[in-house]
Amino acid sequence: YEKAPETIWWNGSLVPWDRARVHVTSEVAMRGTNVFEGLRAYWQPESEQHVVVHLHRHLARLAQSARLIRLPQAESAESVARLLDGVPELIRALRHRGDLYLRPTLYIDEGRYGWRSGQVKLGCYIAGYPTDPRVDRPMSCVVSSWRRSPDLAVSPLAKVGAAYQAFRLPRIEAAMAGADEAILLNTNDTVAETGGAAVFLVRGDTVVTPPLADGVLDGITRGIVIDLLRSRWGMKVVERSVPRSELYVADEVFVCGTLDEVRIVSSVDAVPIGGGTWPVAEGVRALYLDICAGQQDPVDPAMLHTVSS
Ligand code: PMP
Repeated sequence: YEKAPETIWWNGSLVPWDRARVHVTSEVAMRGTNVFEGLRAYWQPESEQHVVVHLHRHLARLAQSARLIRLPQAESAESVARLLDGVPELIRALRHRGDLYLRPTLYIDEGRYGWRSGQVKLGCYIAGYPTDPRVDRPMSCVVSSWRRSPDLAVSPLAKVGAAYQAFRLPRIEAAMAGADEAILLNTNDTVAETGGAAVFLVRGDTVVTPPLADGVLDGITRGIVIDLLRSRWGMKVVERSVPRSELYVADEVFVCGTLDEVRIVSSVDAVPIGGGTWPVAEGVRALYLDICAGQQDPVDPAMLHTVSS
């Protein structure tokens, strides 16, 4: 999602891309003090409409992130409500007949560490990026030498812009090793997540994923996938700590997140996983994409929020 779209939703208005600005000395520019969400709006060609995946859950998590970094509550709630209206407004304005990735963001524009009402001025925006065509080849991962930050530093439960510095070096490390993505361990040396997705392992008829206490974001796709595995296929899904070595002996490894959707991991540290077929991961991936495309029903009917043009 590198190409700049023409229009940004900024503080309640639709403005040309280059009008949405912050000052170089602002708190958000200096310390990355923002909280953000990544949403996908899928284009359903038959009905000619977009559907946003769990719009309300994403914005509830945005409010939670704001709370976790103690942005003033009343102003945050007001901005989150405006962003909720802004998402469909921006989707309509972009007039893109294809899938979109949307970034609702709330930031400190003026002031520094204020946490009480009136102490800082907040700003908010939504940027939307076309995401077609889809990247769908399996990916290679490496286990990073860098750790996921512990809850007592910058909580993994908060999607705070500044915290994403923690993924810069792992991603560079992965790229230098010729891999697509880095899997981070936590400070207890067990598996946490990638910089943008939850990690799942298939072990026989059980699927395993690290619990929130192991340094993972409360992923919305993670929740959808757990529901699908349990209710559509009757699989056992266990949230428990995963030692690094278990990655190499798993039948399958896959990751899931809004941007990655469900992606198969073909190797970890150059060790091939699953011998070239990944029936569970491929099945979940196909089912997830079918649901988003409107070809199968979601487990939770509230999953897809329709935005008609
Ligand atoms: N972990 C991190 C660190 C992320 O940034 C994301 C993307 N929001 C995820 C996991 C996946 O979460 P979700 O399924 O809610 O997109």
